[in-house]
Amino acid sequence: STETTVSITVVGASGDLAKKKIFPALFALYYEGCLPKHFTIYGFARSKMTNEQLRDLISGTLTCRIDQRENCGDKQEEFLKRCFYHSGQYSSEDSFSELSRKLQEHEGGRIANRLFYLSIPPDIFVDSARSSSCAASSKNGWTRVIVEKPFGRDSESSAELTTGLKKYLKEDQIYRIDHYLGKELVENLSVLRFSNLVFEPLWSRQYIRNVQFIFSEDFGTEGRGGYFDNYGIIRDIMQNHLLQILALFAMEPPVSLDAEDIRNEKVKVLRSMKKLDIENVVIGQYKGHVRGGVKYPAYIDDKTVPNNSITPTFAAAALFIDNARWDGVPFLMKAGKALHKRGAEIRVQFRHVPGNLYKRSFGTDLDQATNELVIRVQPDEAIYLKINNKVPGLGMRLDRSNLNLHYAARYNREIPDAYERLILDAIEGERRLFIRSDELDAAWALFTPLLKELEKRKVTPELYPYGSRGPVGAHYLAAKYNVRWGDNSFEPVEN
Ligand code: NAP
Repeated sequence: STETTVSITVVGASGDLAKKKIFPALFALYYEGCLPKHFTIYGFARSKMTNEQLRDLISGTLTCRIDQRENCGDKQEEFLKRCFYHSGQYSSEDSFSELSRKLQEHEGGRIANRLFYLSIPPDIFVDSARSSSCAASSKNGWTRVIVEKPFGRDSESSAELTTGLKKYLKEDQIYRIDHYLGKELVENLSVLRFSNLVFEPLWSRQYIRNVQFIFSEDFGTEGRGGYFDNYGIIRDIMQNHLLQILALFAMEPPVSLDAEDIRNEKVKVLRSMKKLDIENVVIGQYKGHVRGGVKYPAYIDDKTVPNNSITPTFAAAALFIDNARWDGVPFLMKAGKALHKRGAEIRVQFRHVPGNLYKRSFGTDLDQATNELVIRVQPDEAIYLKINNKVPGLGMRLDRSNLNLHYAARYNREIPDAYERLILDAIEGERRLFIRSDELDAAWALFTPLLKELEKRKVTPELYPYGSRGPVGAHYLAAKYNVRWGDNSFEPVEN
């Protein structure tokens, strides 16, 4: 038969990510008709479960988007019937050959492609890659493996992981996921730059004063700090998510939209970055406080965190790209937990208008009157450009207004979760949004010396109250480069 089928195995199916993200994404793809006609989904983990128990476990988290409400319940039933479970050991080839036999029955002689999603703790990545690849690879189709972060905790451990995986898999079988790259507005970044005339000519040191990449969470580790404490916010958010967005933002125009062309440009940016100086980094950790009668915990109050931990839950950094386009332009990053709001955004602050004719007409100082392009990645996706505008009337007074592309108002549809796009891409062999090993190496080469120095010097983080804007050090770091964080300034009301 020349018919094809895909078998998707979620390794670590009993876990949190599988339940929260992977199965719901698979269902959404099924609903949209994006999965091939023939497919089978298997959950694999050590926990003992029947097929029915797996279905019960995941059925609670399957949801339908507003535009998918029709037949939602029926669709969920159909989908769940195609989900199965196999219990086994991650390092056991026997377990995976049994799985392989079961997959084969479902595949029924078709050309069988196999996708393994490793949703497990990092210490068993290589074992699982070995046993799945040695004992359950497809005989006549492709075999691909999605790997979740963390990809090591420094250059050495990352290289070790890559070497471990490459013993059993070729680079083009490895799909390293960074779910930020699957976010709608991150994908749109290239569309904005390269399909509009008005942005790309301004995309350089000539017109851009600074760029900010900001990630904030309005909650702490809340009893799940065990994993986090070993990594900290720099490894958890900056070295991967924010740096990936920076690379996409700053790359030269790629030859084509082909995955290798794009990743070639991204890796060039990463390799052009100046050494990250410890003087250009501020770290923080949240402390408990009481507000409005409510008591908010400190990071070290988390039972899973050692009470003398100096792991940063906040960091800000100023980075520089040593190339012709970006020489001298500060790229600022800021990431933190337990801050006053939740969100991820990119802010591009443009230079002053030279010899501004209207300088007398500004209510505020000229520094506040520069254009700023904001790409709000989440929540409430939007792209807006702050411009100066004449307040209507007989006088000549200017104010700041937004040219605003607010997704909820413009597009009457819910935005797919990042995991949907990424899983679909992995099935289709589209590697554009996955991290190539040389990109990963370059990302670690930038951050490892800094991380080692912070650890060697035992730098203590500046404490900031839970729910605040973070340590004041971040403000001074930006001020050193004449920058104000855009997210702390007044934002015009959305329309
Ligand atoms: P998890 O719930 O801790 O682990 C998934 C499964 O792995 C567990 O159900 C367990 O299944 C097995 N497992 C756990 N600890 C193990 C151990 N020490 N030895 C052997 N097996 C063990 O993890 P997760 O939150 O789903 O995350 C999975 C992966 O995605 C991790 O690498 C994580 O870093 C990454 N990730 C997670 C999130 C998230 O939101 N949760 C976000 C980004 C990335 P059995 O006991 O049944 O075998």
